[in-house]
Amino acid sequence: MTVDPFDIRLADILKGKKAAVAQALNLLEDKKPSSLEHRVKLVETLSLNARPERHVIGITGPPGVGKSTLISQLIPKYRDQNKSIGIITVDPSSKRSGGALLGDRTRIAYDPKDVDIFIRSMAAAGHLGGVAWRTRQCLTLFESVYDRIIIETVGVGQSETEIEDVVDTVVFVIQPGSGDVLQFMKAGIMEVPHILVMNKADLKSLAEKSKNELEAVASIGSADKEGWNLTLAMTSALEGWGVEEFVAAIETHGLHLKKRNISEKRRQNRIKWVYMIFRERFGSFGVDVLGGEKNILRILNPRDIINPFEEVQTLEQIFWKAILDSRLPSSSSSIF
Ligand code: GDP
Repeated sequence: MTVDPFDIRLADILKGKKAAVAQALNLLEDKKPSSLEHRVKLVETLSLNARPERHVIGITGPPGVGKSTLISQLIPKYRDQNKSIGIITVDPSSKRSGGALLGDRTRIAYDPKDVDIFIRSMAAAGHLGGVAWRTRQCLTLFESVYDRIIIETVGVGQSETEIEDVVDTVVFVIQPGSGDVLQFMKAGIMEVPHILVMNKADLKSLAEKSKNELEAVASIGSADKEGWNLTLAMTSALEGWGVEEFVAAIETHGLHLKKRNISEKRRQNRIKWVYMIFRERFGSFGVDVLGGEKNILRILNPRDIINPFEEVQTLEQIFWKAILDSRLPSSSSSIF
């Protein structure tokens, strides 16, 4: 079965054949109206083929804490377990300098001949926060191809809360002596992560001191609203230790989610995606016409969102009806 005019075979995508995955990504990122129908069809087909055992992990934190080095260490651990990996790195536009996209695949070390790894870098330019909605399209594809999907984002603040709506497990990476935790606390986002990683734990005494400070302020070990205990992992990505414990913490959280209703959380995430696509197309004017974000989420809430693009069409119909109604002479209130 082919899913588009470029003759990409679905079977090749699902097998993770790199050329097919790359072609599918290109189609998903294509902005031409003429390919919209095929994109919608592809997203639907992919959504129906999402791997039940997949696990989406968001790794975030300030620049320089060692996220790329840590991910480079995670790769062999997962490959030893025979798990395939898709990685999406989202870079703030400020990192795009001189035409080169920093944080691209060269920063993460992996074997390019390994057919079970795929890395896609994207700039967050022109979008709110660090997690572009395009990330979700890429994620929809990766969810049908890879066992473990890692989304790496940079920053302290907005992107952490945005990533929460996209992934299953949120990991914050910090480094000793940086005061990052205090910043997280100030930003009021300390409830977001499931796992805290203090990387560069090879900076022994500083790491020990920061760990004590962290344990004093962050509620390590006390259960959140999902019944999960925030876990702290101490790693040295440079020296390669602590990484197994980190992987174990990720996997434990994955099992925890599977025992609780992970499919409902993912459905809620898709609802937020539909909202985002709509906002991307119709702007804040469109959102206002439909009664604001809360109302749009309420309209979508009962729906079983398989294909977000199709659901957007439902919102579009309501939008155009509201516009037409407001233009009828009998209409009592005008939205213009
Ligand atoms: P990112 O910006 O968060 O992706 O950080 P990088 O992975 O690029 O690492 C930033 C710098 O920290 C590099 O010079 C790394 O070699 C160094 N680094 C990464 N992990 C460790 C670690 O565990 N210990 C020490 N001492 N340095 C590290």
